[in-house]
Amino acid sequence: MADRLTPEQRSRNMAGIRGKDTKPEMLVRRCLHSLGFRFRLHRRDLPGNPDVELPRWRAVVFVHGCFWHRHGCRNSRMPATRTEFWETKLERNAERDKEAARRLKVCGWRMFVVWECALRGADRLSPDELAERLKGLIESCGDEGEIP
Ligand SMILES: [Zn+2]
Repeated sequence: MADRLTPEQRSRNMAGIRGKDTKPEMLVRRCLHSLGFRFRLHRRDLPGNPDVELPRWRAVVFVHGCFWHRHGCRNSRMPATRTEFWETKLERNAERDKEAARRLKVCGWRMFVVWECALRGADRLSPDELAERLKGLIESCGDEGEIP
């Protein structure tokens, strides 16, 4: 289904979501903090520049915008115009994500992704649900996982 936003509008929207210290990321940080996890932010020296690193758990957490990282949910619909441009751009993002995940794994990092739609919009999780899911992932023995 086509998206009703023009690419320009979408760009503007997404620009606000993309940078550091965006709201979804703050939600995740606050949640981790309230759970008592110790973490570090924006490790430039790690593949993919994870938003959060939990050294004790040898884990990193990415907060991914659904559109930019092709979640496949309704927030990641392709714009109706300049579709090819967006396809190419998002394909590159997906490649970068895959490469970062591969390199993190090689270095023994566990990698978790929290999707933006779990944090805001109609399908968002309650703070308690988010906390439960995050804690469950980090304290699991799994190497990867995502919310939702
Ligand atoms: Zn999503």
